[in-house]
Amino acid sequence: MPDRPDVIVVGNGALGLFTARALAATAGARVSLVGPAQRPGGASAAAGAMLGCFGEVTKDTFATEAGRAKFEIGLLADERWPAVLDELAETAADEGQRLHHVPSTHVVLNGCGGPLDSLNYDAVVDALGKYRRPWREVGVDRIPGYHPRPDGRALRALHMSGEGAVDGNQVIGLLEERLRRSGVRIHDESVEEVVVRAGAVAGVRLRGGEVLEAEQVVVAAGSRTVELLRTALDPGEVQPMLSGVGVALVTQRTHGPSFETVVRTPNRGGACGLHLVPLGEGREYIGATNLLSPRPQTLGTIGTASAILDQVARQLDETASAHTIVQWRVGNRPVSLDGFPLVGWTSVPGLYVLSGTYRDGFHAAPALAAHAAAELAGSPGLFGPVFAPGRTPIRSWGVEESVEEYALHMTSLWFELGGRVPSQISSGALTDNYREEARSLYRRTGIEVGMGPDVLACLTGARDPAALTVLLRYLRAAGLAEQPVAAR
Ligand SMILES: Cc1cc2nc3c(=O)[nH]c(=O)nc-3n(C[C@H](O)[C@H](O)[C@H](O)COP(=O)(O)OP(=O)(O)OC[C@H]3O[C@@H](n4cnc5c(N)ncnc54)[C@H](O)[C@@H]3O)c2cc1C
Repeated sequence: MPDRPDVIVVGNGALGLFTARALAATAGARVSLVGPAQRPGGASAAAGAMLGCFGEVTKDTFATEAGRAKFEIGLLADERWPAVLDELAETAADEGQRLHHVPSTHVVLNGCGGPLDSLNYDAVVDALGKYRRPWREVGVDRIPGYHPRPDGRALRALHMSGEGAVDGNQVIGLLEERLRRSGVRIHDESVEEVVVRAGAVAGVRLRGGEVLEAEQVVVAAGSRTVELLRTALDPGEVQPMLSGVGVALVTQRTHGPSFETVVRTPNRGGACGLHLVPLGEGREYIGATNLLSPRPQTLGTIGTASAILDQVARQLDETASAHTIVQWRVGNRPVSLDGFPLVGWTSVPGLYVLSGTYRDGFHAAPALAAHAAAELAGSPGLFGPVFAPGRTPIRSWGVEESVEEYALHMTSLWFELGGRVPSQISSGALTDNYREEARSLYRRTGIEVGMGPDVLACLTGARDPAALTVLLRYLRAAGLAEQPVAAR
């Protein structure tokens, strides 16, 4: 069949688009890209999109081999972005647009969160020094557009000249345009099933029933990746995936000078930091919340919306309440159970996975795509198999360490959200409560591996017991949680 593609890429977010671009450019492969044009709940379309490598560093980044390996993917992406921007600028010019790129970032440390903010800010400073990146401490009154309330002002701030942001939606549009020009077939469709014949991948079945055939399929379906893989793999082969639901908004400034750089806090309790990305002509992106959910969401809640509005008015721009809201964005970060990417071949020949990028997948996408394209072409990738999708979950913490981490994150989150503790009670009592909450979850479930604080928050707060059931089934089958009494 002459029309048959060599590779089908499932998912039209940053990972799918960059992978299709890399395949079409380097391997000369015939590529089809499948994904709904509206991208409901897609992470990339909701992202800022900060090109954050050092701004994303936390106190834990270099604590494990896997954390370091993930950071190094960010460095590989940093190397690739200048060429990507040149290429996109050309396409933008052809389309009568100007590519929007914010070249630098201010990281602000204020007293609105908990101790985690300081630990993560110090980690950013250490990493910048260690990797000899250009940065300097700046006075907080020297940040254009930054106008917090007096009680939300930063006490320290730094400027990184090499790390900024793009307009994620513009980049998505331009990448699609480039793909069309290079002959990639774009299908405005959803994949229902990965088709396997004679033990190897044979293509995908679309929602309407049509089957697209190819010898290689890349599943880059964001937070729906593992759900889709289950149509082809044993349920225990790939760890469960959660959705890091993020709410953000785009505003139009009605008065006052606009921000000129990305302004962000360090990463925060169970979440990315509060950040503002100028989009040009007075438009500003403000993000983002992060609440792990067992299923992707397409609508935000009033609680998350009001939290972000309160935070921006206090901590970044007290005039924000006068600006108009142009758009609310809701996206689902693809979050694997252990919080690390899922990248590589599965047990089914021809079936490749590219997902699990969590908070910084827009930035990492060019590097991950180059890696995947090389492996799909049978060449060595850019890094080793550390994030192979069939791995047992990477252990970043023991159970007791995870309890401490949860208590630290939740206490910080409490204060970030404006929570108060009566003056007669120490904030340590709050932390103790969170410790007990986490220990009780471990006792109840028999989970024997330390989980991330964000995953624990999802499980302790789960209104939907399905979250716990799917996770426990996987952990028990993998020998990482005790069997229930009846099964012993
Ligand atoms: C609010 C928010 C802010 C963020 N900010 C940043 C940031 O500043 N910098 C950064 O680097 N990262 C950021 N991230 C994280 C980043 O967006 C993700 O890590 C990355 O974009 C994931 O890309 P993806 O292509 O894997 O997934 P997605 O972007 O989710 O794309 C997956 C696509 O697959 C499609 N799909 C799903 N199921 C199917 C199916 N069955 N068939 C076909 N198609 C399917 C979906 O419609 C979707 O378009 C943010 C995320 C959110 C939610």
